[in-house]
Amino acid sequence: MDIRLIPGAVPSQIERDALDALIGPPASDWQGNGRANAFEEIVSESGHDARSQRRLLLPALHAMQNTVGYLTPGGINYVCQRLSVPPADAYGVASFYALFALEERPPIVAHVCDDIACRLRGGRELCAELERRIGPAGTSTSDGSATWLPSPCLGLCEHAPAALIQRAGAGVTDSSHAGVTIDEVLGALSASAPTVTARNVNDVAGSVPQALDAGSGDLRLLRRAGRVDPTSIDAYRASGGFEALREAFRIGPHGVIRETQASRLLGRGGAAFPAGRKLEDVARAPVRPHYIVCNADESEPGTFKDRVLMEVDPFAIVEGMTIAGYAAGCERGYLYIRGEYPLATRMLTNAIDSARQRGFLGENIMGERVEFDIELRVGAGAYICGEETALFESIEGKRGEPRNKPPFPTMVGLFGKPTLVNNVETLVNLQQIVLEGGEAFASSGTEGSTGPKLFCLSGAVRRPGIYEVTFGATLRELIELAGGLPEGRALQAVLLGGAAGTFVTEADLDVPLTFEGTRAIGASLGSGVIMVFDDTVDMVDIVLRIASFFRDESCGQCVPCRVGTVRQEEALHRLANGRALGSASDDIRRIDDLALVMRDASICGLGHTAANAVQSAIRTLHIFDDRNTQ
Ligand code: SF4
Repeated sequence: MDIRLIPGAVPSQIERDALDALIGPPASDWQGNGRANAFEEIVSESGHDARSQRRLLLPALHAMQNTVGYLTPGGINYVCQRLSVPPADAYGVASFYALFALEERPPIVAHVCDDIACRLRGGRELCAELERRIGPAGTSTSDGSATWLPSPCLGLCEHAPAALIQRAGAGVTDSSHAGVTIDEVLGALSASAPTVTARNVNDVAGSVPQALDAGSGDLRLLRRAGRVDPTSIDAYRASGGFEALREAFRIGPHGVIRETQASRLLGRGGAAFPAGRKLEDVARAPVRPHYIVCNADESEPGTFKDRVLMEVDPFAIVEGMTIAGYAAGCERGYLYIRGEYPLATRMLTNAIDSARQRGFLGENIMGERVEFDIELRVGAGAYICGEETALFESIEGKRGEPRNKPPFPTMVGLFGKPTLVNNVETLVNLQQIVLEGGEAFASSGTEGSTGPKLFCLSGAVRRPGIYEVTFGATLRELIELAGGLPEGRALQAVLLGGAAGTFVTEADLDVPLTFEGTRAIGASLGSGVIMVFDDTVDMVDIVLRIASFFRDESCGQCVPCRVGTVRQEEALHRLANGRALGSASDDIRRIDDLALVMRDASICGLGHTAANAVQSAIRTLHIFDDRNTQ
């Protein structure tokens, strides 16, 4: 393949070193070994080796950006030359992801969340104050060392308002900050005092969840939270770690599939697909190799349960993936985590490395002649990569654009091979199932929703956090577990399932939070979001935020979603301003028409659900009734 590089754009030594550290030094002259003028020429490479490097594009772009804070033309040239990717292609990928910058910018960037949970706790005011003190989003501080940007949900809703600080340069890492004030953000932006320690949540103590159980009192998913050192494989083993894997080897792949089917476990990522059926489909697929992907790209606004699991019990995810990979006949797995989770990324990196060193990953695992290993992939700020096929594209080094289905991933998935995709919480459940048996697992919960479930409580509750219950608890019970509403506040609405979910009201408080219970009231459980709004909240503002979120996050490849999310937001703004086209009911009808087309004709779940919360707010909360009198 011939590649024409960007003329005259030469990488710095720091950039060369960063990429060489990731993929190894260049093996030949054409790869940039000792040929300065290679960057002004057409370079060519043949064959299979170059194409196989394409999957390293995202890690390579991360390595480049981490050197100076943005992707320089010289840095991109070097990536393209080493991986044999045309520059236009690399730019197409880099420009897709929000955390990559193609224009020069300072090495420190504060991403300040102004999404729903954070704006309920001052996130928007924080952004306004940053604008007053520094300038509009993207403006550099006076010394040129830092800048700030508003951000969609950072997955720190229980600690709102939150910020993510990206830092470039040797020896520094990104960090998440919780409950931030303006002074703390400004402190974090200071080159001389680059960390905020007071409320830095980059320690395990900051992630320990509210772990309560409304049913039996036994914690299963969160049993190690705050009790077992998540950085120590010895501590994990002493707490029963890898016993489930040992049992999986004893009962064999068929035994794991049998028990998973008997458990009636439904996937916890939002789609609620039977986990045992998916496992069996991949195991039976005749094409080889098989892959397993753990979807840890938790980007649904209001969702943070997987982040907490990864921070407090990372070895459990490694073990769960190994069990599932073993049962499905995989020798390789990818764990794709969102780029906004620096602490969880560090925890998993340590867990994977430790497991490999101690013989729980790699060849001949636990002396059982089983081979399996995990590669961690860090996303770069794209909600749509939580969609399983978009996630495959991202791992393959492409823009995160969903594929048409069918074919389904169990037949044609990552790299075109049969692929098992599971959410973090689903995989942690697998250990329970293997240890206690599928039938015992299915005996807890309800007929249609078995086992334990994590819920993410945020907004107007006294103790926001993660709560573990056995399926069957009602919405009212969950809100009470989180301490109820603050003194003197009345409930206005609850958003179930995140931005793609549905608003419910006081009348629905006694609904059991099960897959079947929420379905019966026309809502969905989604990924377990329970966001509570009291009577002081402007719900129109919340709905406008949801609409702008979907407009921003649409990948744009199919017309109904690309255009529909824009038109939906425009109509909502007209209704909010009392300027409906024709009458209010005309614009509401337009929103309904758009919803119909997006649901029927979009490729993926984003388009299918982008109108859910909007329509339920209009119908259930009557948010526009007093704004349009025509
Ligand atoms: Fe992309 Fe939206 Fe189409 Fe999904 S529905 S593929 S997000 S444009």
